Amino acid sequence: AKSAGGNRSELADPEADARAITRHGLTTALPTALERGEFFIEYQPLVHLGDGSVRGAEALVRWLHPQHGVLGPDRFIPLAEHTGLIVPLGRWVLEESIRQARAWRERYGPQTAAGPLRINVNLSPCQLSHPGLVQDTIDILERSGVTPDALCLEVTESALIGADDDLLKPLRRLSEMGVDIALDDFGTGYSNLANLRRLPVSILKLDRSFTQGMQQFPADPVDLKIVEGIVSLAHSLDLAVTVEGVETGAQAEQLRILGCDTAQGWYYARPGPPERLHDLALVDATG
Ligand code: C2E
Ligand code: CA
Ligand code: CA
Ligand code: CA
Repeated sequence: AKSAGGNRSELADPEADARAITRHGLTTALPTALERGEFFIEYQPLVHLGDGSVRGAEALVRWLHPQHGVLGPDRFIPLAEHTGLIVPLGRWVLEESIRQARAWRERYGPQTAAGPLRINVNLSPCQLSHPGLVQDTIDILERSGVTPDALCLEVTESALIGADDDLLKPLRRLSEMGVDIALDDFGTGYSNLANLRRLPVSILKLDRSFTQGMQQFPADPVDLKIVEGIVSLAHSLDLAVTVEGVETGAQAEQLRILGCDTAQGWYYARPGPPERLHDLALVDATG
């Protein structure tokens, strides 16, 4: 931006420069951050809408940066994808999350009222096309001694749009082993609905934008119709529906009436340390 003849607006934007420097700085710091153990995971409970029981949690990675403090995944996951560090980082997230799932299962047993107690882990498109994915996952599950039904891998709808068979093969293998696959951010990718039958997924995670449409009461009638349609299509294809971004009781009630199966959001709990799930599960067990 500072080269001769560079335009003035670039020169006059010190914030953009700072952002670029930070981006560069963060990118170069990523590998050592992994070695030094600066990443940690917060867990956000997944709640069964029918009876309010805790079904499991989604693992959300954070970076405790020595200078910048806690950074959210939107700040560094794209950088990690760009440099390929996402593969070892993703492997670490998987290992750590599954270790946590095992601890929960030891405490509460492997089953919840709504099915096997499960940890949801996000998978980036780079991990999906990495040849080690299936074997790494098998190894991690074996080392931790939990059954594959303790794991749900979340893949975004956009990562699978137009996916050819080579990309779907590892997911199909994992699914056959008993790992659940969820289609994340569903409804934002304009995928062909008929295409769903081809994908080895068992859960649709409805994007937060739909939940936002349920905020007012009465809810936006068009949003209602769309969610109703998606739920009925999903159920007819034997897929469960999870909703994310639930912030109010009214939203939760509306989505329950529409037939959604599982919910996640600040209304239940913000992402937090693993002990948070203990509190919730205990509250539930005592009614
Ligand atoms: P996502 O998979 O769609 O995760 C849901 C995001 O919504 C999380 O943001 C979560 O903190 C936030 N959220 C949860 N409940 C609410 C709510 O009630 N209201 C609102 N407004 N937001 C809510 P977060 O933790 O910043 O993660 C952002 C994205 O980063 C995730 O979106 C996911 O795509 C990605 N990500 C997180 N962890 C990992 C990881 O380990 N690997 C990969 N590849 N991606 C990850
Ligand atoms: Ca997710
Ligand atoms: Ca999502
Ligand atoms: Ca998202």
